[in-house]
Amino acid sequence: MQPFKALTIRRDEETKKQTVGVETLGEADLMEGDVDVRIEHSTINYKDGLAITGKLPVVRRFPMIPGVDFAGTVTASSHDGIEVGDKVILNGWGIGETHLGAFAEVARVKGDWLIPLPAEFTTAEAMAIGTAGYTAMLALMALERYGIAPAAGPVVITGAAGGVGSMAITLLADRGYTVEAVTGRAEETDYLTGLGATEIVGREELGGEPRLLGKERWAAGVDAVGSTILANVISMIRRRGAVAVCGNAAGMDLPTSVAPFILRGVSLLGVDSVMAPKEERIAAWSRLARDLNRDKLSAMTTTIGFDDIVEAAKDIVEGKVRGRLVVAIQ
Ligand code: NDP
Repeated sequence: MQPFKALTIRRDEETKKQTVGVETLGEADLMEGDVDVRIEHSTINYKDGLAITGKLPVVRRFPMIPGVDFAGTVTASSHDGIEVGDKVILNGWGIGETHLGAFAEVARVKGDWLIPLPAEFTTAEAMAIGTAGYTAMLALMALERYGIAPAAGPVVITGAAGGVGSMAITLLADRGYTVEAVTGRAEETDYLTGLGATEIVGREELGGEPRLLGKERWAAGVDAVGSTILANVISMIRRRGAVAVCGNAAGMDLPTSVAPFILRGVSLLGVDSVMAPKEERIAAWSRLARDLNRDKLSAMTTTIGFDDIVEAAKDIVEGKVRGRLVVAIQ
């Protein structure tokens, strides 16, 4: 194997301070796995921002190559059913956290973690969708499984101008749901309505102390932010409604009460993309291949280069990124 370029996070064990830099690594640096992939595209997720800035302890092995998802081409495989030349996607499974991740020209991973790239997508498009889009689809599927149909009433989406939010607006609006978007960036109103939101709700409207039960406003929600905003959303969900809970951009806490659950039968539906079983991943990606509006995907996507990753990571934890950032690795 040729030496390859990788972004690495190293930690000084005495000071516990981490440093991030670009290095040239070789085969001996790789971790265990039965498939080698030439990574073509990756993406910047919120979790990558947390890992690279060290804001939360996402990385649990040093040195680490961050990056929780990639798409690329198989260059070596001893895994049944995966051949050299196959195009593949990997989302989660701990890459960029416990196993060397996506911001490198090469990855060695378990074949069980890979799914085939749907023929409808290039590797760049698959990463424009990325873990954010696949998670938004898991959230839609969770609401559907629960029985929330478009006729149930409006659906609220928080963290709207971010990656998960932008993808969720697009997917739900195109599916026929009436979507209300919660954002702290009023200047993104045109962008959000272009994706399909019919109403924009200012983030500050949901920033106060949550009431036990608020006015019944939404049939369901997709939440990317957690904390007080999610607590307020829950208090305003209509009887028997549900919220698909995806993220923690505003915090890990949830200052709510049991009232909405026991007095209105509201449900929280947890969405975990990292350890989702293979069948669910394939189902989500097949639906993305079938349903996703490519023009809207382009409208929300910006492509950056390898050298821009660290800056983009800082931007995403500061809530400055709009939509999706694809990283061209090669
Ligand atoms: P982004 O940064 O792209 O989007 C997050 C959005 O949340 C921002 O754009 C902003 O939207 C809003 N936001 C940011 N900070 C705050 C704040 N302090 N208070 C309120 N709102 C805030 O991240 P992603 O879309 O990639 O990820 C969103 C969340 O989902 C993250 O927490 C991420 O870890 C999680 N996630 C979870 C997955 C899972 O498997 N469960 C998979 C993928 C992501 P606006 O400007 O419109 O207000």
